[in-house]
Amino acid sequence: HDKQMKRDKIIFDLIQKEQDRQQHGIELIASENFTSPQVMKAQGSVLTNKYAEGLPGKRYYGGCEVVDEIEQLAIDRAKELFGAEWANVQPHSGAQANAAVMLACLKPGDKILGFDLSHGGHLTHGSPVNFSGKLYQPSFYGVEQETGLINFDKVLETAKREKPKMIICGASAYSRDWDYKKLREAADAVGAVLLADISHPAGLIARGLLNDPMEHCHIVTTTTHKTLRGPRGGLIMVGKNIDNPFGLKTPKGEIRKLGSVLDSGVFPGTQGGPLEHVIAGKAIAFQEALSDEYFEYIMQVKKNAAAMANAFVEHGYKIISGGTDNHLMLIDLRSKNLTGKIAEESLIKADITINKNMVPFDTQSPMVTSGMRIGTPAITTRGLMEKDVVKVVELIDEALQKPADDKHLKAVKKKVNRLMDKFPLY
Ligand code: PLP
Repeated sequence: HDKQMKRDKIIFDLIQKEQDRQQHGIELIASENFTSPQVMKAQGSVLTNKYAEGLPGKRYYGGCEVVDEIEQLAIDRAKELFGAEWANVQPHSGAQANAAVMLACLKPGDKILGFDLSHGGHLTHGSPVNFSGKLYQPSFYGVEQETGLINFDKVLETAKREKPKMIICGASAYSRDWDYKKLREAADAVGAVLLADISHPAGLIARGLLNDPMEHCHIVTTTTHKTLRGPRGGLIMVGKNIDNPFGLKTPKGEIRKLGSVLDSGVFPGTQGGPLEHVIAGKAIAFQEALSDEYFEYIMQVKKNAAAMANAFVEHGYKIISGGTDNHLMLIDLRSKNLTGKIAEESLIKADITINKNMVPFDTQSPMVTSGMRIGTPAITTRGLMEKDVVKVVELIDEALQKPADDKHLKAVKKKVNRLMDKFPLY
């Protein structure tokens, strides 16, 4: 196979360069992970050649017998992993999953209520620069300034005032758990669809380490590549015992089960042909996530995050809400006289990758920010344990002591590379 291939040297050299970067650095971006070799193999397979518009057994193209089996396995495994009654594994990404759900459940101009982007929410939950804020009328809830926590009683109050058609919960930078029961109360009070976007903590939720949205939410969306450690992609599920409480219709005007209405939101609503090579990767990742080995992994992700948060506090850093219940933490750098931009740019010179992030009630612009977001999914895949992540915090602190001193950062980089040599990637 390799011999037949006329390699595009420029691209393959760059891929090798990227692999070296991933091997040598400390990856702390909370939304990233290292997927398994078998997931990557599936994505580089002949499945990429196949058109398969439609669903297993109901396709618009011939020759789909094999991909039907693959996609059905992905659906069945997703349902088993999350305890869902229905799943669609076709969304190309988390943003696409949310777009499909909104298209299926809302009309242009309908009101939606989401978690404020500047407090840790996601663009697709109503930001004015995103389709969700352009097509629908968004309002937002946030965290309390004193505690950094969401006050769920206040979300209920906001819902009663705004009367949205959809309430969206879930975040990109919130380190605490969600009260789905209370959110359902808010949704029921105003007749809104409750959507939980669990893209970030999906792996922790799947293995019972956080509250279960399936019990209370009508619809659950997630990406498959963050804590879940699968290929880049999206997934939509329907919560437990949900029929179609809102009488939502398919594009043909039929009132069907909620799952069927959501299927039409994906195709033909927002996508064309599904990526069957990625769907095969999803099926593999769901199976992996059901294993004992993954359970050990995801528990360690949580333990490592708690250990890191403690170590940061010991080094005098301020963590929003004081700590973490999941795989990430948001650090307010103002007490260290740093911005997120300075931290991100200096740490990358030491081969440590984090991302600058707005903190709630930030006084800096989104391109500068006062905070940094840090997560443990990727370093835990590399094999780092609590004692190692304490060392990582020491290295970050050492780098940030002199963020403008390139010689100093180079010295820290050497230590970083030496540490990561002990944890081979692939
Ligand atoms: N939803 C949440 C909460 C996210 O954090 C993200 C990604 O960061 C997405 C959706 C979008 O996922 P994708 O980048 O796959 O479109």
